Amino acid sequence: MQPIASPVLELIEFTKRYEDFTAVHPLSFEVNPGEIVGIVGTNGAGKTTTLRAIVGLLRPSGGCIRVAGMNPEHDPVAIKQILAYIPDNTQPFDLLTVTEHLHFTALAYRIENAEIQYDSLLEELDLSAKRHSMASSLSRGMVQKLSMACAFLRNPEIIILDEPLTGLDPRGIRNIKSSIRRRADQGTAFLLSSHLLGLVEELCDRVLVMHEGKRISFGSLSEVRAGANLDCDAPLEEVFMAVTDDLRNTALRESP
Ligand code: ATP
Repeated sequence: MQPIASPVLELIEFTKRYEDFTAVHPLSFEVNPGEIVGIVGTNGAGKTTTLRAIVGLLRPSGGCIRVAGMNPEHDPVAIKQILAYIPDNTQPFDLLTVTEHLHFTALAYRIENAEIQYDSLLEELDLSAKRHSMASSLSRGMVQKLSMACAFLRNPEIIILDEPLTGLDPRGIRNIKSSIRRRADQGTAFLLSSHLLGLVEELCDRVLVMHEGKRISFGSLSEVRAGANLDCDAPLEEVFMAVTDDLRNTALRESP
């Protein structure tokens, strides 16, 4: 029998409060090696808060987070070796060129013989023509691709992406989708947050739906559909509207 791989990421009753406001109510889910999990939710649902806590930028108010069995609060350096995080407002070093970013990443993460990957990575992300350009001269979409290149160079166990397609043109979107799928097939886990439900539907193995800090649904698209009592071919957009409309209507009925 095949051994069951341990999750590379596990949240157990993770909670985040900002003073007396609860941004994320006890939330549990896991991401397995080679799996792509998408988080979708209404504005303010707690997606970014959850991602920032996973990467150690926010301290949980309760529950626990494990990345490859380690706690981001106790093992921040070890976790940085196996996790890459690309926020939605990624900031490059303005005075480094594209290639220098790759080189800097290779030095910071002690990646041996990294140079042999540079050409193929830049080609994969359509950045070859910009290899000698300063980051300050790149467009927003190019900066996003550069962040991906740096993350892919490290070959981490899990890549966390907040709105990964922001600013990308249609070719860039297609390239990034196939890059993510290929790496997942090779064992990299992905956790991504996006409002682009088509992307999530196309790319993700499982989906976490959040609303007002709560987990509404978590599972494969067919499990999430079944939970919303929808047909087996209903698009994710319809599922999302159905579950969030229900919650909105309940909240309206209960409000004084
Ligand atoms: P969006 O889709 O709009 O980006 P999100 O799901 O990423 O939203 P978060 O940014 O995680 O949502 O925010 C969740 C909730 O926590 C929101 O109500 C937000 O106003 C609140 N919040 C976030 N950061 C803080 C903070 N530093 N102090 C107080 N409240 C905060």
